[in-house]
Amino acid sequence: VTEEPLQVNDIIGEVLQFLDNAMLYSRIKLELHLQSDLPEAVSDRLQLQQIFLNIINNAIDAIGKDGVISITTHTVAGDVRVVIQDNGPGIDKQILPHIFEPFYTTKETGKGTGLGLSICYGLIKKLGGDITVRSVVGQGTAFTITIPVHREEH
Ligand code: ADP
Ligand code: MG
Repeated sequence: VTEEPLQVNDIIGEVLQFLDNAMLYSRIKLELHLQSDLPEAVSDRLQLQQIFLNIINNAIDAIGKDGVISITTHTVAGDVRVVIQDNGPGIDKQILPHIFEPFYTTKETGKGTGLGLSICYGLIKKLGGDITVRSVVGQGTAFTITIPVHREEH
């Protein structure tokens, strides 16, 4: 883990640049609500990129064409919080408890490894943060990622 003060808004921008073609291709509308005076977080750039990339990629997969992805950053109790929300099909109640398990996927063979979210979960925990999900079938899914501004001694 490399630790340096990072502007999470910039990291989101980097990931979105990388996903630009996929979003254009799927005609996805992006709504950004990035807090302009977001404090820097002492964290790992590549690992945060990987977390956001996995979650936004899942959203792109879920909504198919002409969906909306909204990304919000704000501060909660001194921590940086990122909410990545889509208006896709949502996740069934029976499926929801399993999505962070390794190799759990609902995608057809060859389309998903089921490793994305379990890797995200491991990474964010190592960074001292957390990830939670809320989903309503027929309305969409929101992942909330909390990133500590100050790293605990370890
Ligand atoms: P994979 O993408 O390879 O299937 P993940 O660990 O990234 O594996 O995701 C696990 C499962 O969680 C997916 O197969 C899908 O069923 C569900 N999922 C994740 N994100 C979303 C989302 N935004 N909308 C609907 N379902 C989702
Ligand atoms: Mg995935």
